[in-house]
Amino acid sequence: MNEYIKSLKNQGKLNISIDKEKTFNWKYTKIAGPCSVEGPEIIDIAKKIKSLGANAFRAGAYKPCTYPVLKETNGWKEGLREEGLDLLRRVKEETNIPIVTEVMDPRMISKVGEVADVFQIGTRNFQNYTLLDELGKTNKPILLKRGTWATIDEILGACERILVGGNDNIAICLRGVVGMPNYRHVFPTIRWAPDLMMIPALKELTNIPIIYDPSHSTGYRNFVKPISNAALAAGADGLIIECHPNPDESISDPAQAIDYSTLNNIFNG
Ligand code: PEP
Ligand code: MN
Repeated sequence: MNEYIKSLKNQGKLNISIDKEKTFNWKYTKIAGPCSVEGPEIIDIAKKIKSLGANAFRAGAYKPCTYPVLKETNGWKEGLREEGLDLLRRVKEETNIPIVTEVMDPRMISKVGEVADVFQIGTRNFQNYTLLDELGKTNKPILLKRGTWATIDEILGACERILVGGNDNIAICLRGVVGMPNYRHVFPTIRWAPDLMMIPALKELTNIPIIYDPSHSTGYRNFVKPISNAALAAGADGLIIECHPNPDESISDPAQAIDYSTLNNIFNG
């Protein structure tokens, strides 16, 4: 155990002020939406998802894909990018639901920030220190998605990096980690292992809210509800879930997308 973690265990947690006036209310947060912005239908999707009880809407305008050109289609190239941001702006105007969307690059913070109510840091940028430092200087809520490789030290360290910049409006998003080889011959879309034990582990060391992502951490829609329930039972403060009107048609992450009725069941069942 390193000295820093020892001191957190012995002398108190990595504390942030949970000030309801100032912070996005992470407690019981229900974030849902498609993996990415695919077109103007995003507005109706957001209305529907809001009506199912979501208190924030997710969708990526900028999507860091494993293969950058594999899914190129109709202007969608690692997202709709600026066009996607414009559509999210319309979602906000028409539904007034807070928008959670990814910012991949420090140079894009002000542009994405015109639309995002919460900056999502994707797993691939979890240790992009320039991005973390720059987001630490903003006063917008940040959803920091755990790197698929990250240790508990690296999680706390990444949070601290944002905190020292002056922004303590953050939540940690757990979204699955490397290592699930024994499932993949039966469930080929599984890519990551849900790490539910990290929820109580982090709760011992910090009061930073924990949002659980049952979509990326399972990679398979039939597992989204059970793992959502498990995460809440383990102490997660909220969920972020991928939902699509026609899940199999999703441009990105189709296998893990759930339909409206499953989302309704998770949020209200
Ligand atoms: C996402 O939320 O769609 C996403 C790209 O997640 P992650 O960064 O966790 O892979
Ligand atoms: Mn996704």
